[in-house]
Amino acid sequence: MPGVIDADLIRLEGITHAYATGASTQAVLHDVSFSIPAGLSCAIVGASGSGKSTLLNLIGLLDEPTSGRVLLAGEDMSRASAEVRAIARNRIIGFVFQSFNLLPRLDALDNVALPLLHRGVPRQQARQAAQAQLERVGLTNRRHHRPADMSGGQRQRVAIARALVGDPALLLADEPTGNLDSQTAQDIINLLLSLNRECGTTLVLVTHDSGLAGRMARCLQVVDGRIRFPGYCNQ
Ligand code: ADP
Ligand code: MG
Repeated sequence: MPGVIDADLIRLEGITHAYATGASTQAVLHDVSFSIPAGLSCAIVGASGSGKSTLLNLIGLLDEPTSGRVLLAGEDMSRASAEVRAIARNRIIGFVFQSFNLLPRLDALDNVALPLLHRGVPRQQARQAAQAQLERVGLTNRRHHRPADMSGGQRQRVAIARALVGDPALLLADEPTGNLDSQTAQDIINLLLSLNRECGTTLVLVTHDSGLAGRMARCLQVVDGRIRFPGYCNQ
């Protein structure tokens, strides 16, 4: 309905997803429906292979559902063109992965600047914005280091700075602490939660760690491709 503001940043309606494997298909998500209001922090937990990454990739517009709808800020993105989806990914969403996914040949500053260069922002301006984000994650003095010359925690901070540089409404993180020791993991979660609290960035975090999940306001549990409500809720 035009003019109606949808308070749900994310809304999934009757999502099913199947992967084609050779001649057959494997159904991975079954009739998943839920919504997440803007500004919330939400954990997605579940056993390995239960469908968490598939779910996050659908929310993050990296993949399209087999059926059902994915709405972001009230817009049905599942019917949108590839171009509109790519623009939405660049403008609305920041993604953080377990394996950091930084480009090895670029230093921290240029890794963080990359999403802005893809937007057509001039290099100098993109670097200035990247510098500000590196400052925010406490890495100003590592800006000219390449990923290989940084620790896991530092690499993940660079990846978070890169996810933030486009000022996204939504931060999606797929097991972002999976490769980190427990103290560094806590530091990264503290950083993500402070961004959520102080900037209102909606945070959706996939994690195996129930201790980390318990720090989010809401928790969704995925069991064999279905959502179990609620894992628990702190709000
Ligand atoms: P989780 O993140 O909870 O470990 P995933 O969403 O990665 O689970 O995977 C759910 C199921 O889908 C698994 O059985 C996995 O093997 C399968 N799967 C994931 N990605 C693909 C793909 N690209 N092609 C085929 N099967 C896949
Ligand atoms: Mg996964």
